[in-house]
Amino acid sequence: MSISNGKRFSPVTTRFISTFIICVIVMSIEFIFTGSIVNAELHKDEQRYYDSNSQMLEGYAKAIHYSLENYKTSLMLANNEKILQTKNPVLIQEWLKEHKPLFNSDFHELAYADLKTHKTYFDNGAVVPIGSLNIEPHTAKATPDDFIWDILYTDLTNEAVFLLEKPIFGEDDKIQGYLSASVKLEKLDQIVESISTAEHISVYIQDRFGKFIVHPKPEYIGKKYTPAQEKYKIASSSIISSQTAGITETVDENGTVIDLMYRKISDCGWIICIAIPKVGLKQIQKNKMITKLLVYIISFSSLLLLLFLEMYLIDHFYKHQLIEPIYDPLTGLITRQRFEQLVEKQLKVESKNKIMIIEADIKGFKFLNQNYGEEKADELIKYFSENLNKLVSLYNGVVARGYADHFYIMLKVHNVRKAMSEFNMRLQYFDESVKNSEIPFFPKFGITFIRPDSKKGVTVKELLGQASFAKSTVRDNMIEPYAIYNDRILEKINEEHFIENNMEDALANEEFYIVYQPKILLRTDKIVGAEALVRWKTREGRFFTPDKFIPLFEKNGFITKLDFYVYDKVFQFIEKQLKNNAPIVPISVNMSRNHNKPEKFMHDFMTLFSKYNIPPHFIQVEIIERSVMDDNTLQEITNRLHQAGFTVAMDDFGSGESSLNMLTKVPVDVLKFDRDFLLSSMNSSGCLDEKSARFIRSLLDLSKHLDKETIFEGVETQEQRDFLKSADCDQVQGYFYSRPLEETDFIDFIKKHD
Ligand code: C2E
Ligand code: CA
Ligand code: CA
Repeated sequence: MSISNGKRFSPVTTRFISTFIICVIVMSIEFIFTGSIVNAELHKDEQRYYDSNSQMLEGYAKAIHYSLENYKTSLMLANNEKILQTKNPVLIQEWLKEHKPLFNSDFHELAYADLKTHKTYFDNGAVVPIGSLNIEPHTAKATPDDFIWDILYTDLTNEAVFLLEKPIFGEDDKIQGYLSASVKLEKLDQIVESISTAEHISVYIQDRFGKFIVHPKPEYIGKKYTPAQEKYKIASSSIISSQTAGITETVDENGTVIDLMYRKISDCGWIICIAIPKVGLKQIQKNKMITKLLVYIISFSSLLLLLFLEMYLIDHFYKHQLIEPIYDPLTGLITRQRFEQLVEKQLKVESKNKIMIIEADIKGFKFLNQNYGEEKADELIKYFSENLNKLVSLYNGVVARGYADHFYIMLKVHNVRKAMSEFNMRLQYFDESVKNSEIPFFPKFGITFIRPDSKKGVTVKELLGQASFAKSTVRDNMIEPYAIYNDRILEKINEEHFIENNMEDALANEEFYIVYQPKILLRTDKIVGAEALVRWKTREGRFFTPDKFIPLFEKNGFITKLDFYVYDKVFQFIEKQLKNNAPIVPISVNMSRNHNKPEKFMHDFMTLFSKYNIPPHFIQVEIIERSVMDDNTLQEITNRLHQAGFTVAMDDFGSGESSLNMLTKVPVDVLKFDRDFLLSSMNSSGCLDEKSARFIRSLLDLSKHLDKETIFEGVETQEQRDFLKSADCDQVQGYFYSRPLEETDFIDFIKKHD
């Protein structure tokens, strides 16, 4: 789980970034993949290119080889002729002339070189001394099976030929002479030409002395290559090597890069060589590279297109709300739906961690929204969300925003106690931020923990319900702004269910009844009034004190009905007492916060009151502050009550948000100091703290100056009473004098303290 701090991107941007990253990964894989395929293909092509060329070369070599074999066979025919035994060169010459048509048709001239006469006898009748011809010296030591090749010379007719010689041995096994046939070099050219298919390929043949016998340029025929002679560069010296075959790259006389492939032709020792311009291979490779590039471009652009399409579609869906939003646009936090999904996921994960779920909101946010305007309220929401992020930044937490000011947090924690002390510590920082806020606000938190072993038995909705419920139990006067869900709270839930389900019936069945708590005038120790407080006892005998049901009724609105029920009962009681001339004192009734339309309240109140015959000074109304801003409503209510002759007390004065400003603005008759005043003024030994005492004194003084009557609630001890008396407080109400009493007990109390 990620920490939810900092800024978030919009859903579309997030989607774009993630898709882009995926695209880059896919592209890289494709690059590598396509690259390796194309490279393999290129390699194969090169291989194929060389294979086919070497096959071609082999073809040339074979063709030359077979032709030479044919020539040999043809010359062998004469070898066994008896005429050679005559050792008579003239007869042999005659025979050659006569039988020439029987020899290979490629033979240009036939001749017999006689070692005895040291002359060569040609079939055309010519006789020339051996050595007069431009013949290379015989190097081979002749044996009966030998042929002697590649002796090149210009014959009598001045044509380039190569010579094929067969030594003739006499009966004494001594060489008597040589039978020879010459073949015009153009015959070799013809053989090469007959099998040549590729025009761009040139063919060269060198004899074993390094002279060209086949060359694309006729002027080089018969020329021997030496490295110094650049013009013969085509057949580099490496061709004349001991190797039987090979390949070498070189540059020809035109500067073209070429591959030179060569091999030895068997038996004759000639070397055949083909020169292939490299451009052919380059072209193939170039085509492949273009294909590769095209594949890249097409795939990249289609991916890009898809990316934009996806972005457009997502954007469209979001705009038209066709898909569930993941992020809240105001805060950038995830939505509640998304949060629920994440929690659900977490519930399925096996882990030793406990999950902590927090629901947070701002006290009275609706009111702030109305008073400060939407824009400011939005700013507050953002501010709140940032601070919530900070609050969870130490944990691996997720923060989400739900409706309005509702936020949800999920944290994984090891230890509940540690988590809570950490949470408490962080709340202090949170308080700092709250103080710095432009709009004053008070956050509330509801917390629930889920243990690893109970993950399976609980749903997300239940968990959020628990957190929400815990939050709803946070009261304004609580020191901590949070509550933790536990079994007691569960009991409370059940109790609240019961209360809500039964309140209407209870009212109809008169299960609510009134108790009266006396108010004592300190100067005389006599009863001067009482507060009417409601109780609920069900028919089954279940008993509820108001703290159980009043806050709930304030929330569900039922309190306005109950208030009027109480007023009715109180009026009844007073009227009855007055009628019977029985003891009675002025009674205070509570007016709940929910009555915020003074006109309507007064109308209903007066309608009820006018049914009874009671002087209005018997009734005091205890009002409570609604919120900081609501002084006007209070002022109006007070004025109207005064006009009707009732007195008004400000209840719970000093608790919560009461401001001194209100004191001058709302003309109440009585200030009723909250019980918390006394509670928080006691030190650890149960005695009144001196500083607090001074403060209370000055408050009472101030009230006197403002002409307000003063009464303290919750006076429980003699010490408290004595102190208040010494501080010139007018009245007290508390257990020290009396608990709230049922009607008959209350009447007895009046009798005793009147
Ligand atoms: P409250 O109006 O401030 O009433 C005073 C509460 O303090 C009463 O609690 C009373 O029993 C209690 N109290 C009085 N003296 C002492 C004392 O010496 N020690 C202690 N510990 N408590 C003392 P109760 O009756 O439980 O009422 C609680 C709250 O419920 C009231 O606070 C009031 O806000 C609300 N409530 C009670 N009855 C009514 C009613 O009829 N209508 C409305 N609207 N609210 C009511
Ligand atoms: Ca009261
Ligand atoms: Ca009170």
